[in-house]
Amino acid sequence: MKAASGRFLFLYPMKLLILWLVLASLLSSCGKQFHFASIESYANDSSFVYRLPYEKGKSHFLVQGYNSIFSHRGRLALDFKMNRGTPVLAAREGIVTRVVQDYEKGGIGKRYAGKANLIVIRHIDSSQAYYGHISFHGSLVKVGDSIAQGQVIGYSGSTGFSAFPHLHFSVWQTTSMGRKQLPTRFLTGKGILYLKPGNWYKAVDFK
Ligand SMILES: [Zn+2]
Repeated sequence: MKAASGRFLFLYPMKLLILWLVLASLLSSCGKQFHFASIESYANDSSFVYRLPYEKGKSHFLVQGYNSIFSHRGRLALDFKMNRGTPVLAAREGIVTRVVQDYEKGGIGKRYAGKANLIVIRHIDSSQAYYGHISFHGSLVKVGDSIAQGQVIGYSGSTGFSAFPHLHFSVWQTTSMGRKQLPTRFLTGKGILYLKPGNWYKAVDFK
């Protein structure tokens, strides 16, 4: 017990911040617009199964999930903690529709809002995936490129509004009503799941 609390005191401030984000996420995701209580309702789920956006065999920690209160309020987005320069892989095949890679900096000041490097890929069903906080000049793709699922598209970073290096991932569909955010399930080392903050998820390839 003593050892555990001693270790806790020596956690780096960044780790404390991440711990706070995870706890806040877990507390806030209970009973919100998109909740995970009704797992049974996924039994007949026929939605597309995405690949985790990093290399096979690697595990990353999900810091924020859907509707997490720090910066995902009202957003179906996922934040994977990821060291700068980690290869980012396409979660689904498609065509690149947008690349921004000229921002150099990031942080949690207002001045960084809207200044994240990013890659957007449009899928065959017209949904689009956003890969955010890519590193400076960290894209390996350009608009119009055809991308295979699992292809390395760039390198992660911490550009734009970002408290620490991570990959922000979200999917939406443009409808006559505007943008509709889509929850996405992934193939993981633990099976096909909707991801929740506070967990590690290992990337595996489709057989
Ligand atoms: Zn995010």
